[in-house]
Parts: sequence; C-alpha cells; structure tokens
Amino acid sequence: MGPAGSGKSTQADLLAQDLGAIHLNTGDLLYYASQELDPQAATIKETMDKGEIVDDDIVTNLVLKHLDEHKGEDFVVEGFPRTLEQAKESGIMPDDVIYIALSDESATKRMLSRGRPDDTPETIAKRLKIYHEETEPILEYYKSLNVLRQVSGEGEIAEVAQKIAQQINV
Ligand code: AMP
Repeated sequence: MGPAGSGKSTQADLLAQDLGAIHLNTGDLLYYASQELDPQAATIKETMDKGEIVDDDIVTNLVLKHLDEHKGEDFVVEGFPRTLEQAKESGIMPDDVIYIALSDESATKRMLSRGRPDDTPETIAKRLKIYHEETEPILEYYKSLNVLRQVSGEGEIAEVAQKIAQQINV
C-alpha cells in the first residue's frame, strides 16, 4: 500500500521476483476488464478515466476470481484493497501488508516529473485526496491485526527494496 507515486508498482515487481510470487497489479486487472465488450467494462472505464475508485464489489470479484484461477500460488497484490470495505468483505487475509509512506509533496513532485497525460496538478490532488479519505483508514485496520509493515518511500529504488526485504525477512 501507499499513495500514487510511492513506487508501489516497482517495489511489488521486485518483491514478486524475490519471492517467486505472482505480481497482481489491480490497476492493470481493471484496465483489461475495461477493454472487454460487456456493460461492466464501460462502467469501469468511466470511473478509471475520472481517477475515481471502481465499485468495491466489481473490484473484489475480479481480484478473487484472479486469485482463484491461480490457487496455491504466492501473490504480491498491489493496489488492493483500496477501501476498508474491500479489505473486510474480500475475506483475504494477507501475511504481510507493506506500506510505503510518502509525503504528498514528494508524491506530487514524482507524478509531475513522470509526465503522464493523466498526471495534471488537479488529478494528482484528487487522487491524493481520495487516498487519504478512502485508503488510509485501512492502515489502522491492518495495524490492529499486526500485519502492517511500514517503510519510507522517500529513498532510491534499491534502498526502499532493501528495507522491504528486511521487514518481511526475505
Ligand atoms: P493504479 O494503477 O493503482 O493507479 O490504478 C488505476 C485506477 O484503477 C485507479 O485510479 C482506480 O480508478 C482503479 N483502481 C485500481 N485499484 C483499485 C481498487 N482496489 N479499487 C477501486 N479502484 C481501483
């Protein structure tokens, strides 16, 4: 877990390689679902284009279906859960939850420098606001379950990767 710009995707990739696990990127999963030819695809696409959070039931079902299709494999799940509802209703209990902490200022700087068309100051502010409101409450939930491992996301890629590996004893 971590805000947009915290390096979640990069770190999830590295960790999955280290663990020999499958990297499930929920943003990608939703993107593929949005390209299908069914009514749900249009709903997903509209929500993603606005930078808003896709409906909890839709996301949870897609993630559970994906995990079920790869039963018995280890997973590094990225981008899920993004709401407390998703965390609780999915019934998924992770072994470890890695939280990559980054200030809004650093997150904004990083997103602006990567120059993606959907990274305007307005959409960045909106994503961070949604993150604070919808996603941050999950941190307390996982903390109370003793699975939350926090690292600072301010450093270089290798430095952050090393801290994550230490946290979960890879
Ligand atoms: P990301 O690549 O993680 O930034 O995700 C891209 C977009 O996918 C987000 O802006 C959301 O619209 C959607 N999304 C990704 N993961 C979730 C999730 N767990 N719940 C709801 N929407 C999500």
